[in-house]
Amino acid sequence: MQTEGIVKVKSKFEKSYKAGYPLILKEAIHNMDSLTKEGMLFQLVDEKGQFIGKGYYGKQNKGYGWILTQKKNEKIDVSFFEGKIKTAIENRKELFNSTETNAFRVFNAEGDGIGGLTIDYFNGYYLINWYSEGIFAFYDYVIDSLKNLVEYEGIYQKKRYDTGGKYIDEDGFVDGNRGQFPIIVKENGVNLAVYLNEGAMVGVFLDQRDVRKTILDKYAKGKTVLNTFSYTGVFSVFAALGGATKTTSVDLANRSLGKTKEQFSINGIDHEAHDIIVEDVFQYFKYAVRKKKTFDLVILDPPSFARSKKYTFSAAKDYKDLLKEAILITEKNGVIVASTNCANFDMNKFKVFIDQAFKESNVKYSIKEEFSLPSDFATIKQYKEGNYLKVVFIQKH
Ligand code: SAH
Repeated sequence: MQTEGIVKVKSKFEKSYKAGYPLILKEAIHNMDSLTKEGMLFQLVDEKGQFIGKGYYGKQNKGYGWILTQKKNEKIDVSFFEGKIKTAIENRKELFNSTETNAFRVFNAEGDGIGGLTIDYFNGYYLINWYSEGIFAFYDYVIDSLKNLVEYEGIYQKKRYDTGGKYIDEDGFVDGNRGQFPIIVKENGVNLAVYLNEGAMVGVFLDQRDVRKTILDKYAKGKTVLNTFSYTGVFSVFAALGGATKTTSVDLANRSLGKTKEQFSINGIDHEAHDIIVEDVFQYFKYAVRKKKTFDLVILDPPSFARSKKYTFSAAKDYKDLLKEAILITEKNGVIVASTNCANFDMNKFKVFIDQAFKESNVKYSIKEEFSLPSDFATIKQYKEGNYLKVVFIQKH
């Protein structure tokens, strides 16, 4: 593929693109109309026509494509892709060699040099996520690179963009052997059931690995644990293995019940000793207050945006109120694990929400731990939004 289009950046944005900002924004470009076909390559130039970088056109949320190189003579071909993926694999050598963990991110989009593309590893299986039709145009480059670089049991893929309802082709299988799902992977010695052949989510969010380990190692022993927005209950499993006296998982999706039981069972834990509740979290908070139920450890990991029958939740607007509800049912000296993957605000802003919530509740607190993305979720300093995860362990006084 040759460079096909030329897009001119507005002077106001020149500096940040020259410094390596990777995402093409509509408001930064003079002539968006020269981007005609997703997957086409283009040159980004300044107002004088001088070369800034080369990228591809692909619509992804608010972005219109990603810069791939700032070297004028670098070709965007299969060896470019293979080089980036090879380096990414080398950077994860420790994880590939780990005997305790065989589920992690191998390639993290712009953090590893190619926006719009992620590759995760699950015990011999590779899962490719395509975040735009544009990056999917490079399908052959990515698959050929993987075939050249690694041995695998199988390759699966997911299209994470609007495909007109066709979310994955059949079960997302690409090459190798079809898996028997769930496949069981390991994270720090804990078993996790993973489905590569279902919807967008596979059963575990790999970016919380360090948080889960911290809960197991330091915060669970002898504690009662409430895991809200619990999904497949993986935080609960880590807490139970860390010696929690009891965990309570709450999620409104029906599927969460069976999936949570499964995650407990594959770790040899009797799920009947734990509560798994299918309910709106906001409803559950009201119930807990009414029944004077309290917990030593409360985990809050809501989606950035959620709508249930009765409530709408937007992390940017409502996180403070969510915390206030959690504070009410957390024991004195108990800990709230406040987590968000919302990219619209940063850690400083998140801490402001935390501070306001405690002040408005007339409760003192101290921050015990802080996490952002683990090292396999590589990020670059020019694209701060890429480091979306914020997790704070807060002790209630
Ligand atoms: N904390 C989980 C991931 C959460 S994903 C983990 O680390 O594994 C978000 C989950 O929130 C989804 O499972 C979704 O069903 C659930 N959810 C969204 N809105 C909800 C609500 N109002 N009450 C309860 N669960 C909700």
